[in-house]
Amino acid sequence: MFWADKIAASSQQPELVNDSKTPSGRVHVGSLRGVIIHDVIYRALKRQGKPARFTYGVDDYDPLDTVPRYLDAEKFSPYLGFPLCNVPSPDPTVAPDYAKYYMGEFLQVFDYLGVKAEIYYLRDLYREGKLNYYIDLFLRNAAVIREIYKEVSNAQRPDDWYPFQVICENCGRIATTYVSKYDGERVFYTCREDATDWVKGCGYQGWISPFNGNGKLPWKVEWVAKWDLLGVTIEMSGKDHSQKGGSRDVANAICRKILKKKPPFHSPYEFILVNGTKMSSSKGIGSSAKEMADLLPPEILRFLMLRTQPKTVINFAPNYETITRLFRDYDALLNQYVDLLAKGEISELPPTLLPLYYSQLEDEIKPYYTFELSTIISLLQIPHLDLKAEIEKRCDRPLTDYDWQKINERIDVAKKWLESYADEEEKLVIYFDQIPEKVSLLTDEQKQYLRRLREYLETVNRWEGEELQTALFTVTKEMGISPNVAFPAVYYAFLGKDKGPKAGYLFSYLDKNFVFKRLEEVSSL
Ligand SMILES: [Zn+2]
Repeated sequence: MFWADKIAASSQQPELVNDSKTPSGRVHVGSLRGVIIHDVIYRALKRQGKPARFTYGVDDYDPLDTVPRYLDAEKFSPYLGFPLCNVPSPDPTVAPDYAKYYMGEFLQVFDYLGVKAEIYYLRDLYREGKLNYYIDLFLRNAAVIREIYKEVSNAQRPDDWYPFQVICENCGRIATTYVSKYDGERVFYTCREDATDWVKGCGYQGWISPFNGNGKLPWKVEWVAKWDLLGVTIEMSGKDHSQKGGSRDVANAICRKILKKKPPFHSPYEFILVNGTKMSSSKGIGSSAKEMADLLPPEILRFLMLRTQPKTVINFAPNYETITRLFRDYDALLNQYVDLLAKGEISELPPTLLPLYYSQLEDEIKPYYTFELSTIISLLQIPHLDLKAEIEKRCDRPLTDYDWQKINERIDVAKKWLESYADEEEKLVIYFDQIPEKVSLLTDEQKQYLRRLREYLETVNRWEGEELQTALFTVTKEMGISPNVAFPAVYYAFLGKDKGPKAGYLFSYLDKNFVFKRLEEVSSL
């Protein structure tokens, strides 16, 4: 069974699926995994006819704890420690404050991916007094919470520590304040100089009401308040929060001990690794969620996130191999669906096709001609070529407007990939006007291969990738030469290097006479 359907199948109550994000800067593509996982669980529940809602919280009362490298440090460092909703917007014409600015960018990606969550902001919950009940409850139970921190995560809090941080009335910071008393109506706090190692407090002290937005609960405690206020029943969390003794364990224990309630269903999900390193939003290595959405069509980006079950790491690097395989894997499922459709065997989707189903933005799979991305990437690099005509020539049926819409999307992907992601090594540079110098490396055996290949290609019926590829192999067998020796000869002759795309396909992109001439020239050197 598909992972999300399994979760949905075990549901026996109306569900509220929740996820959240601190809008501390540009959101990394890694954060999309949680969004898509929760979205797919929500869709799976609905598919099984179970009542469900999907909410997404913006944790904008969290402090700004670092100035991202792409912002002006001088302008933003004075706001370190401020709640994110009180930090100025990087561009006030786009959004009124910092939190809304970065969340706005992320929410555009939600729209793009067809994620229909109900969005709420923590500033509203606090300021409208919706969390007052919990603030009072947890302040009164400070001793129990201190005990839970110690028992569950081995974190020692001083005896006068209260689970609350006030927004300092003097300096506006929330990260630096320490609450040490609660009289049932007001808390006593100190804005401490040594509160954190990344920002200093101003030293102010005073009594203030903790209610109606004057401060916030620490986020592990806040998490529990949110669950109960909203009625959350399903919330997964990243591996980093799900370790034994980690934040989720602390929150679960608070939920059980103080609220005397069962915490929401939870299962940890793994990271997305890019080139083997964890993508973290603070590092920002040029793969923000928005950048990925700019590169990949929405159903392909969803597919990348959901085809791997949550407990398995996703390895993704936008290199040639990974990106062309992603499209190929998607196409294989779509074509499988089309075959079933043609046979009239589609009363119920087989489990193998559910990743395809949940990749769609709506509850309908709309087939299209799956023209290979790798071919488009190659064709785009051949000069003086009528791309549309070449594509049409390679399709075995006439293309509809919708086919063209999807092919044009792929042309955009290929263009962007070539411009922004392709290594020089991955680009196809064909030596049209001159013979590459590297052909001096060819052995006599390799030259013989090219000569025999030239003769054999005369007999090929159609100048088309698959058939040419077969021809290249046939000649190696006939001569008893290894393809590992033979094919580099072809690449040297046309690309000046020892690797390239499938040689048969490479030939199919090129003019037949040019191929013949080059093979003749090189083999007779
Ligand atoms: Zn202060």
